Amino acid sequence: MLNAEFLQAAAAICGEGQVVPGSSIEPRYLEPARYAPGRAAALLRPGSAAEAAQLLPLCAAHGLRVVPQGAHTGLVRAGTPDDAQREVLLSTERLREVFEFEAWDRTLRVSAGFRLSEVNERLAPHGLMLPIDLSADPSVGGLVSHNTGGTRMLRYGDVRANTLALRVALADGRVLQLGQGLQKDNAQLALHQLFIGASGALGLVLEATFRLAAVPRQQAVAMIAPRSLDDVFPFYQRVMARYPGLVSAFEAISREAFSAAMAGPDETPRWFGGQLPDYALLLELSSELGTEQLDLQTLLQQLLEDEFGEAVIDAVLGADADCWHLRHHISEGLRRQGKVLGFDLSFPRRQFMAFREAGKTWLATHFPAARLADFGHLGDGGLHFNMVWPRHLPLDEPALRDGLYALVRAHGGSISAEHGVGPQLQQAYWRHTDPALQSISGQLQSALDPQSLLAHTHWGREGGGQRA
Ligand SMILES: Cc1cc2nc3c(=O)[nH]c(=O)nc-3n(C[C@H](O)[C@H](O)[C@H](O)COP(=O)(O)OP(=O)(O)OC[C@H]3O[C@@H](n4cnc5c(N)ncnc54)[C@H](O)[C@@H]3O)c2cc1C
Repeated sequence: MLNAEFLQAAAAICGEGQVVPGSSIEPRYLEPARYAPGRAAALLRPGSAAEAAQLLPLCAAHGLRVVPQGAHTGLVRAGTPDDAQREVLLSTERLREVFEFEAWDRTLRVSAGFRLSEVNERLAPHGLMLPIDLSADPSVGGLVSHNTGGTRMLRYGDVRANTLALRVALADGRVLQLGQGLQKDNAQLALHQLFIGASGALGLVLEATFRLAAVPRQQAVAMIAPRSLDDVFPFYQRVMARYPGLVSAFEAISREAFSAAMAGPDETPRWFGGQLPDYALLLELSSELGTEQLDLQTLLQQLLEDEFGEAVIDAVLGADADCWHLRHHISEGLRRQGKVLGFDLSFPRRQFMAFREAGKTWLATHFPAARLADFGHLGDGGLHFNMVWPRHLPLDEPALRDGLYALVRAHGGSISAEHGVGPQLQQAYWRHTDPALQSISGQLQSALDPQSLLAHTHWGREGGGQRA
């Protein structure tokens, strides 16, 4: 229970209406996109970076742990409080003071509370964008804290690759500017990189400075049926070599995921005449040049003609919006079918298919009721090895996760490619990450946050001195 003194002091910083007691918090702050809801002691909604920075030491003084929250679209419960009602949620949605576009440098300095969609709407008249693409609408702070990848990472890189500087508040309220937003700067340690992908556990992101990309003037998309799984990566290599710099997405969708994403059986005949392949490929070319200089539709058509009968046995061309609509509706479709177990993995390309086969066999042996419906950002080695579990059956989820993660490691993969760690993967992190790395990470976390104010994700070793 929070004492009146804390509530009064918090209200003095960010205003009476911006301090919401636990019992009155709207569900959207407590219910994550995936997994169980949490409960918070209170919700704080600071309206400026200065207010946010002042709230942190206040919470520390009252022994409260703080969970920063952006748009709450994260998939590992890292922005969701636990259910003990001891944590305070700090929403960044009102942090919107700064939006500084610099045309000569093609950079944007922006407050943590802006959503990706609004950032790109405001940049569109300048022909520029923050090139992170996904089917959710995250905040700037959340993008940074989870180092989001998305479907066009192949071309533009993840958030890390596009971030030049950060302004952060540490747990003790100190505000640091990390980097000046220059394109090149080796005159200091690149400490901003530490905070990217840290799941909010090292400090609160107040602002980010991003490098921007030009909005493509044309795109060409094909949904492709490959002849066999063995053809997929050789085909990928040929595409990358043939059109360097033009491939912006190379996604894979299993038959089960494809079926789930369709609106209904009526939609089946329009894809591959109703004969869905084991694995469909979504290939996108894009360019900043206009069609008068380079015609992508023609290039894509030529590629498919040359590959026809070799790697490609069928393709749907000229339905760009439908292809992307289908790709972006897989998760929603799977949720309709049962409990979704998400595995956000990545592999060296040579191990990708080997893991997929080994994973399928392992599931069939140990958890035969699990129905695999995988998909992923195949071009960058990303695999959402997701499955649907019948809601009426009991499930030993820790055993399922542990078995699969061991297999992931045996194939040289990552147990969290782009969604972060957070409470959902905390045990797996402890079990499957090098203990020496955990020790160093824990020392860093303790140095920046000695009281574990922001330790909703623990980067140190299990029971390694951070408050549980
Ligand atoms: C339908 C759907 C599709 C998705 N597709 C992808 C995808 O393709 N690729 C991908 O990588 N992710 C994907 N995601 C996951 C998610 O959208 C990203 O992780 C996103 O970046 C989270 O941003 P958010 O603002 O919602 O953060 P939240 O969920 O609010 O928080 C996420 C983490 O960031 C921390 N945080 C938030 N703001 C701050 C701040 N200002 N300072 C410090 N810490 C902060 C939180 O404490 C938490 O640890 C998807 C999610 C959904 C629902």
